[in-house]
Amino acid sequence: MSTGKINVNTENIFPIIKKFLYSDHEIFLRELVSNAVDACQKLKTLASAGEFKDEIGDLKVEILIDKEKKTLTIRDNGIGMNQEEVDKYINQIAFSSAEEFVSKYKDKGDANAIIGHFGLGFYSAFMVSEKVELITKTHKKGKGNTAVKWECDGSPEYTISDSDKKTRGTDVVLFINEESIEFLESARIKTLLDKYCKFLPVNIEFEGASINNTKPAWTRKPADLSPEDYLSFYKEIYPYSEDPLFHIHLNVDYPFNLTGVLYFPKLKKNVEVQKNKIQLYSNQVFVTDSVEGIVPEFLTLLHGVIDSPDIPLNVSRSYLQSDGNVKKISGHIMKKVADKLDEEFKEQRENFEKRWDDLKVFISYGMLSEEKFYDRAKSFYLIKTTKDEYIDLDSLVEKVKPLQTDKHGKTIILYATNLDAQHAFIDAATNRGYTVMLMDGVFDSHMVNSLEQKIENTSFVRVDSNTIDKLIEKEEVLPSKLSAEQEETLKKDIEEFVTKEKFTVTLEAMSESESPFHITIPEFMRRMKDMAAIGGGGMDFMSNMPEHYNLVVNSNHPLSNKILDEKDESKKKAVISQAFDLALLSQNMLKGEDLTKFIRRSIELI
Ligand code: ADP
Repeated sequence: MSTGKINVNTENIFPIIKKFLYSDHEIFLRELVSNAVDACQKLKTLASAGEFKDEIGDLKVEILIDKEKKTLTIRDNGIGMNQEEVDKYINQIAFSSAEEFVSKYKDKGDANAIIGHFGLGFYSAFMVSEKVELITKTHKKGKGNTAVKWECDGSPEYTISDSDKKTRGTDVVLFINEESIEFLESARIKTLLDKYCKFLPVNIEFEGASINNTKPAWTRKPADLSPEDYLSFYKEIYPYSEDPLFHIHLNVDYPFNLTGVLYFPKLKKNVEVQKNKIQLYSNQVFVTDSVEGIVPEFLTLLHGVIDSPDIPLNVSRSYLQSDGNVKKISGHIMKKVADKLDEEFKEQRENFEKRWDDLKVFISYGMLSEEKFYDRAKSFYLIKTTKDEYIDLDSLVEKVKPLQTDKHGKTIILYATNLDAQHAFIDAATNRGYTVMLMDGVFDSHMVNSLEQKIENTSFVRVDSNTIDKLIEKEEVLPSKLSAEQEETLKKDIEEFVTKEKFTVTLEAMSESESPFHITIPEFMRRMKDMAAIGGGGMDFMSNMPEHYNLVVNSNHPLSNKILDEKDESKKKAVISQAFDLALLSQNMLKGEDLTKFIRRSIELI
C-alpha cells in the first residue's frame, strides 16, 4: 500500500467542487457512466485493431445500489487500468482537468453559464460522496497487471493498494454523503439514467434490466431505416406526443461533425409549450434539452436530436452564439430544413398541402426571422384562399393580376382574417371574381407586412377596408344619380344619426345592387392598431386611440332618394337607423342595447 498527495497547486478543490457545483450534483452519474462507456469502447477499438486478442465478452456498464453500505457503484468490463495508469490518469490528468474546470467555474460564478459541465469528469464523484474507491484491473496480460484499489476521502491525500479483483474492468464505488442520500433511491437513479444515458452506445444495466438503446436512429444510415423506425424513435424521445409530420436526417462530417434526426411536429396553438424540445448530445451522451443559441430561434420549434462532439459544451451561451462553428452548424441545419421542405413541396405537393396548416406556423416564423430562410421558403410558402385552395406566392400574383390590378398598376392582394366576421365582404369580393386569401394565423399580420415589402409592386388590402368598388381602385367611376345639393343634404341627414368621433360619413356612387350603407375600417389605421396590439414599434399610443370607421353611403341606392324625399322626421330617422344597423351587423359591430332596439324595430317593420 502506498499513500500520496494529489498535486494541489492553489487550494483544496474538493470543497469547491461541492460548493460551486451544488445545483447540478446529478451530473456525476453522467460523467462516471460516460467514463465507463469510454473504457468499453476503447477495448472494442483495441480488439478491432488486433491489439486485444482475448474474448471480449458482452461489454456493459452496471449501476448498483447498496443501501446498507450506502454505496453506489458504477461497474464496467472495459479496458481497466494498472497502477501506473491510475497514477497517471486519476491522480494527475483527471485531477488537473477537474482543477482547471473548477477555476473556470469559479470565475463564472453562475451555474447556468456553463452548459453540460463537461470536463469535470471523474472528480465530480466528490460532489455526492464522502469517500470514493476505484477498483480496477487492466485488460493487459503479464507483469504489472495486478488489480489496484485507489481510495480518497475528499482530502488531497489518497491511498493505492493491491486488490484481489479478478475480472477485467473498473468499479467506481461512491460512499454517498449525508446530503446526497437521494442517490441511493433506485427511482432517482432510474430517472437520471433515462435522462443522460438513454442512447449510450454500450449496454447500461440497472436492477438487472438494460436501460438504453445503443443504436438510436441518428447513429444509423438513413438507408437502413424505415419510416416506422423514425416514428418509433420519435416515440422513444417524446412518448406522449402526436406523430410528427416528417423528419430530416442530418449527417455532416465536414467542416464539423454533426448527426441528428429532426422532426416537424404538428404545431398546436400554444407554440411556447412545444418549443425547445431538441435534445443535444455529444457522442450519444445527453447534454441538454435546451438548444437556444445553438440553432436559430425558429428551429427550436422542431423536435428531435442533434449530436455533435464539435459543439463546445463547457462554455457560456453568449459565447456559443458567437462561435464560428456553431454558426456554421446553424446555417447547415437551416439549409437542410429548407431542402427537405422544398423536396416535399415539389415531389409531394398534395401531401404538402394537406400538412400546410401544421407547417405554416413554423415556416412563417422562419421567414419572418431569418432572411436566408425567407429566400428559400418563398418558393414553397403557401397561402390558403377563402375557398380552401392552396396557392404559392408566384402563382398567386399571376392569378390575380388581370382582375386585381389597380389604376396605378399595383397588384392588390385581398385578404381576410376571419371567415365569419368578414363574410359579407368576402362574398362581395369573390362575386366580383376576386381571390381572397385567408390570413388568420398567429404570425399572419406580420406576414402581410413582410410579403408586401418583399413582393414587388403589390399591396395587401383587407377585404373590409373599403367598399367593393374602392377596394381595388379602377379608372372608371360610376356617375352619381344625385345632384351635388342633394348629396350635401343626404350627408347632413345621416351625420345627425351617427357619432361624429366614431364615424366619418362619405358618399359614393356605387351600383344600385350594392347595399345602401357600408362600414369600413381603413387598412392603414387597422394595421397600426394591429401592430400596437402585438406590441413594439413604439406604437403603444395607437392602442389607446378611439375606434374610427368610415360610413360609406351608396348615393345610387334607391334608399338614398327615399331618405331625401321623406318629410316625416321620425320615419326618416327609422329608415336611416335601420340601414345603419344593417351595416353594423355585417361588420359584427351591432351589440347590446343597439342590437335589441334593432330587433324590435325590425319586427315592427314586418
Ligand atoms: P476525461 O474522461 O474527460 O478524460 P476524467 O476525469 O473523467 O476525464 O477521467 C480521466 C481519465 O481517467 C480518463 O481519460 C481515463 O483514461 C481514466 N478513466 C476514468 N474512468 C475510467 C474507467 N472507468 N475505466 C478506465 N479508465 C478510466
